[in-house]
Amino acid sequence: MKLLLATNNEHKRLELEAALAPLAVEVVTPAAIGGVPDVDEDRDTFAGNAAKKAVSAARASGLWALADDSGLEVDHLGGAPGVRSARYAGAHGDDAANNARVLAELGGVPEAERGARFVSVLALAAPDGTVALEIEGEARGRMLTAPRGTGGFGYDPLFLFTEEGFPQTGRTFAELTLEDKTAVSHRGRALRELLARLPDVLAAAR
Ligand code: IMP
Repeated sequence: MKLLLATNNEHKRLELEAALAPLAVEVVTPAAIGGVPDVDEDRDTFAGNAAKKAVSAARASGLWALADDSGLEVDHLGGAPGVRSARYAGAHGDDAANNARVLAELGGVPEAERGARFVSVLALAAPDGTVALEIEGEARGRMLTAPRGTGGFGYDPLFLFTEEGFPQTGRTFAELTLEDKTAVSHRGRALRELLARLPDVLAAAR
């Protein structure tokens, strides 16, 4: 089986590719097939956008396709930036401007009210464009008042992982290696559930 990673985001591709490496499927990167079409992410849920991206890539390539739609939900901001995480400050993918906007909106908000979560929804589409799986993962944390760490991408330097009982607790996602982030991240959690459920999906498709 060939599985296309339906993302033009290099950071996401790296995280997905590393997590899928142990699997007995041939992972196909977008670059290997000349890229996947950009999709207008106009749905108001992560699941809606993830499915749209996976279906578009599956139909265009004739392969199984895996897409992630993800973002940051800040409690004090009523769940914003949410599905608009990538374009919160306007231009798609400008991490510095997005972080600056979130920091400004949280100006003066005390630590106890700075709770947030990262959400990832993975959608797997079959070559005929049917959605075979939709899985959500989350990670809980708190928004800092200044960035910390140089790894990761997006809002990672502002997101302090606060779930208790992990070696990663008390670090930002930007202070973790790719492996340590994936062990507790929203995307890593969704991916592990996907890996567990994939054999059944593929068996049913045969
Ligand atoms: P998408 O490509 O529409 O799913 O947008 C995802 C956006 O959410 C990214 O551009 C980041 O701003 C944010 N995001 C999603 N996952 C992460 C993560 O693991 N770390 C930091 N930011 C993330």
